[in-house]
Amino acid sequence: MFIPEIEKAGREEITKYQESRLPGLLNYLNENSPFYSSFFVQHNIEIGKIKTLTDLAEIPVTTKEMLQKNNMDFLCVDRSKIIDYITTSGTLGEPVTFTMTENDLERLAYNEYISFLCAGGSPTDIYQLMVTMDRRFMAGLAYFSGIRKIGAGVVRVGPGNPELQFDSIRRVQPTSIVTVPSFIIKLIEFAEENKIDLNKTSIKKAICIGEALRNNDFSLNTLGNRIAEKWNIQLFSTYASTEMGTAFTECEYGIGGHHHPEMIIVEFLDDNDKPVKDGEPGEVTITNLGVEGMPLLRFKTGDICNHYYTPCKCGRTTMRLGPVIGRKKQMIKFKGTTLYPPAMCDILNDIKEVKNYVIEVSTNNIGTDDILLKLGVEVPSKELEKMIKDHFRARIRVAPFIQFEKVDEIQKLQFPNLSRKPVTFIDKR
Ligand SMILES: [Zn+2]
Repeated sequence: MFIPEIEKAGREEITKYQESRLPGLLNYLNENSPFYSSFFVQHNIEIGKIKTLTDLAEIPVTTKEMLQKNNMDFLCVDRSKIIDYITTSGTLGEPVTFTMTENDLERLAYNEYISFLCAGGSPTDIYQLMVTMDRRFMAGLAYFSGIRKIGAGVVRVGPGNPELQFDSIRRVQPTSIVTVPSFIIKLIEFAEENKIDLNKTSIKKAICIGEALRNNDFSLNTLGNRIAEKWNIQLFSTYASTEMGTAFTECEYGIGGHHHPEMIIVEFLDDNDKPVKDGEPGEVTITNLGVEGMPLLRFKTGDICNHYYTPCKCGRTTMRLGPVIGRKKQMIKFKGTTLYPPAMCDILNDIKEVKNYVIEVSTNNIGTDDILLKLGVEVPSKELEKMIKDHFRARIRVAPFIQFEKVDEIQKLQFPNLSRKPVTFIDKR
């Protein structure tokens, strides 16, 4: 299996390699990015003096708000060079536009090529893509390009529609599926209702996107376990975003997503934008390498993760990223406890009576956070409410307020207009 040489190098060598690419990147931004050229002037940054990764920390971070307010000022190329336009959901409401040049699309294909190889891919694989290729979305196209580069097969079924998914599995005999893990639960339910023996299908592995599969110790979380107990397939977790244009993908050992140092510089920052100590979780902050259209410098993703440097049995020595503990903006202070929505999702995913849900957070009249769980259930009862609250107390020490709703009402809340993925967290603060 192909592993880029730099991904087998020592930590110092990787740092040196990334530092060797800094001057080129900073000059490129200074000459081509209206946003960064004035940002450097505004903050008195002499780019010629930034030579090491430590020096890089002298440049202030780029936030999502800056990107949203100055969107097209981040563009470094003439419009005629742009091929693909993408949007991401912005934190201030308006979507942010991203642009990809021919070279960016090639870089993205390479990124997915090494990522799918990392997740055990080979030319004999056939991937069933259960994600959208359009709707201004980057991921579907990226997966397709990466798989094509491996020389593996693809069947582009798109999201949803379990019946069409199983029809394609039967006809094409794919070896792997690419999907959000919560959709695998839907596939399992469909298979059970329609007497399909999942373990006799051609599927051997799932590349999972968008939702965490593991706890912080890398054991499977509730969602991961619910899949594993019904379907004997190998699960690979991945973490990526449009802004990063890079994926962190697990290898067969499942101990965090491998960093590709030739694609991206990663820092882990605290609330004051200072690096966290080794072993502490921090906000993933990225600097793209090799991006032509809209490269980002020290961009704060909002995701809080742990990271690890011990070498992996697969032969890669690169840093590994743990599951997303939560989003910085979604941190909740509830009854003296700090928590993030994923921890609550993990508990709710474990309760069979809860068919779907939305977690709503608001500020109460004493200025602290209140959590309201709107739960879609078929038969609401006092006993069920008590059982759910007991689960919460056992796992996170506190029990949020609970409101039972009809399953279709929650479905409507989860898919407001233009939403591509279900909304399970509503922040009213
Ligand atoms: Zn590995």
